[in-house]
Amino acid sequence: MNIVIMGPPGAGKGTQAEFIKNKYKIPHISTGDMFREAVKKGTPMGKEAQKYMNAGKLVPDQVTIGIVQDRLAEADCQAGFLLDGFPRTIVQAKALDEVLEKTDRKLDAAINIAVPDNILIQRMSGRVSCKECGKVYHLVFSPPAAQGKCDECSGELIQRSDDNAETAANRLQVYNEQTSPLLDYYQDQGLLKNVDGNRDLKAVGSDIEVILDEA
Ligand code: ADP
Ligand code: AMP
Repeated sequence: MNIVIMGPPGAGKGTQAEFIKNKYKIPHISTGDMFREAVKKGTPMGKEAQKYMNAGKLVPDQVTIGIVQDRLAEADCQAGFLLDGFPRTIVQAKALDEVLEKTDRKLDAAINIAVPDNILIQRMSGRVSCKECGKVYHLVFSPPAAQGKCDECSGELIQRSDDNAETAANRLQVYNEQTSPLLDYYQDQGLLKNVDGNRDLKAVGSDIEVILDEA
């Protein structure tokens, strides 16, 4: 199964991706996670990406397309993949179509998690994740059992630097301007599957499960 999971920042893509990757046994490819890893390691690409991430802007298409192209060529992606946070522009979507066509693959579904802007702001402002294993929590909606500590590995919980109010607002604007046109792109291809993301985690997850079981 080759899937794209879409939606504005804070919609719950990463949260739902955790369950999808386990159920369908496919790798979860998050470009945001890949960039954060590169920033952490201090690679030249990470240093370049960080400038855009800190401003809430998109990393340039050539860089982003390059890392996804390389990742999709890896052995574990041949039997399926879940792309999260990519594509985010029409140029990226077309590049993805080309890469897949060249390797005789195609997308099975583009899931769009829709959530109103005021809720997205609440979700981003309360998001924390484990410094060690990356597990994502929300301080109000899905808090850890012990304050500041990961339930899974006891790692320290930290807030993403781009989840501050100003950068989060910029990211929403960038989404509306550059990424939302992709909904029509996938609608035209008959791949778009809309999910109401303004409900609890399980309700959103079971809608996605029904969609993927039919895809
Ligand atoms: P995205 O990957 O789309 O940016 P995340 O999966 O990281 O979003 O979720 C953003 C925040 O919202 C996280 O703190 C997460 O725990 C929380 N969250 C995700 N889905 C829901 C939901 N259905 N209801 C309440 N909180 C949610
Ligand atoms: P995310 O974790 O998906 O919220 O992404 C965090 C940040 O990484 C974004 O605000 C962008 O700066 C960058 N990023 C992630 N994915 C992409 C992409 N497909 N295209 C451009 N920039 C991206």
